[in-house]
Amino acid sequence: MADQALLTLENLHFDNRFTRLLPADPQQGKQARQVFSACYSRVQPTSVSNPSLIIHAPDVAGQLGISSELCQSDAFVQLFSGNQTLPGMDPHACCYGGHQFGNWAGQLGDGRVINLGELISPQNKRWMLQLKGAGRTPYSRSADGLAVLRSSVREFLCSEAMFHLDIPTTRALSLILTGEQVMRDMFYDGHAALEPGAIVCRAAPSFTRFGSFQIFASRGDTATLKALLDHTITTDFPHLGAPNQTSYVQCFEAICQSTAELMVDWMRVGFVHGVMNTDNMSVLGLSIDYGPYGWLEDYNPDWTPNTTDKAMHRYCYGQQAAIAGWNLARLAEAILPLIGDAKALQQALNNYSTIYNTLWQNMMADKLGLQCFEPQTDTVLIDELQRILSLCETDMGIFYRKLAMLDATQSLEKTNDSELMRPILDAYYKPDEIKPDTQQQIANWLRSYILRLQQDGRSNAARKQHMNRHNPKYVLRNYLVQIAIDQAAMGDYSEIHRLYQVIQRPYDEQPAFESYAAKRPEWARNRAGCSMLSCSS
Ligand code: AMP
Ligand code: MG
Repeated sequence: MADQALLTLENLHFDNRFTRLLPADPQQGKQARQVFSACYSRVQPTSVSNPSLIIHAPDVAGQLGISSELCQSDAFVQLFSGNQTLPGMDPHACCYGGHQFGNWAGQLGDGRVINLGELISPQNKRWMLQLKGAGRTPYSRSADGLAVLRSSVREFLCSEAMFHLDIPTTRALSLILTGEQVMRDMFYDGHAALEPGAIVCRAAPSFTRFGSFQIFASRGDTATLKALLDHTITTDFPHLGAPNQTSYVQCFEAICQSTAELMVDWMRVGFVHGVMNTDNMSVLGLSIDYGPYGWLEDYNPDWTPNTTDKAMHRYCYGQQAAIAGWNLARLAEAILPLIGDAKALQQALNNYSTIYNTLWQNMMADKLGLQCFEPQTDTVLIDELQRILSLCETDMGIFYRKLAMLDATQSLEKTNDSELMRPILDAYYKPDEIKPDTQQQIANWLRSYILRLQQDGRSNAARKQHMNRHNPKYVLRNYLVQIAIDQAAMGDYSEIHRLYQVIQRPYDEQPAFESYAAKRPEWARNRAGCSMLSCSS
């Protein structure tokens, strides 16, 4: 059986354009080093002692042409733990740089990611497969190249949650326990401890980052910069035609567009990435590198899940679009030497803000169930909504789902504040403590919203259906993942499987999983992993 499975996995077809066409690091071996004039270093995954599969995503496997039976085979576990490679693969780690928290950090690179190769799927789609946590590479610096179970559970589940929310993302094929123990100081407080090691196999058409270009620009290496941009256009943006000055600018415009779309999506569902360094920004506008991310519960634009960002709040919810713009400006600077025309890039950057604002307004209109955004009425309506969401602790996700159930045909004349608020009361963390003045402000907003809906003329049922398609009922609340992680640490993976089931239908009512849509419980308010996370992973 295992032999047959291996045979079939061996039939997977790889076409490694990245390593075939781009310059390689001539030096062999894993020792940490600065790599010049090369996009990657060939490196083999480190073998692990006792790999076992915790979970896999059947639909990702299906996309790749790997059957569910194969996913259960020993050959699959050996392959996606890095213990074996297939003849068509060409394992390598990429060289990139990045701005971390606003400062240029120099060479970073795949310190614990090993790309296996570019799989060509049965649908003729290109998928780069990579193992995260597969051991040291030339880019590991002083770190170990490994990943622990808790961060790998978070990466697997969030990749797939994003996909099912219809948000562009890298995908996760599998989560494998390595059988090794990994030393981590989770809170950076001198209390290092052993944790189970794990490997996630990620898949995406490409993992090229803003920082992939920055590293060559920072070194004045225009030749490698040009090779990578030409390759990116031919492989990831083929519709732009041959690489030249025009398609360079068009490529940057396309990155601005997809980045704006991604930011609007994140804002819509309350996702906070937490580490929007330029090395964590995909040129395909994918959500990438799930570290200390979080989901907004209490609506607070200033919230960041990342303990490293506690003082600055650089990567907080409300800043994400502006930070993406800042990162795009760094990418523009990096490719400028190939274009020479700063004006065209500046224009694209200006357009980014315009595109984002328009998309954001349309998204807010969708969240509110309006037929379209009417600037004259809706600018004030939405500004005011953001203000009232911040008045007292309000669960953003629940708020919009409850709002969808509001009766827009009700007469406002005799309805008092508390009656008006009753349908949305469940969205509040401390409903009994809402002050009369706050209640009045919220009720007044509801009045203007209902009047606006009456103008809009959509039926209650049609509006609800529309709103529920844009406002997820189920998101991967931090405390839910933390429960799954705590159980996994004791060898029980059932909660990971349950969460995986829930996140596959985020917009639907799932009566059996009602509790997964509830407000964060009080015990989780300040618990590590539920409120804030460190970068340690
Ligand atoms: P991140 O914050 O996860 O995006 O990582 C930033 C940089 O640090 C990237 O170059 C990673 O490859 C590298 N890195 C993070 N963790 C490790 C690790 N355990 N071993 C080696 N490199 C790492
Ligand atoms: Mg990263």
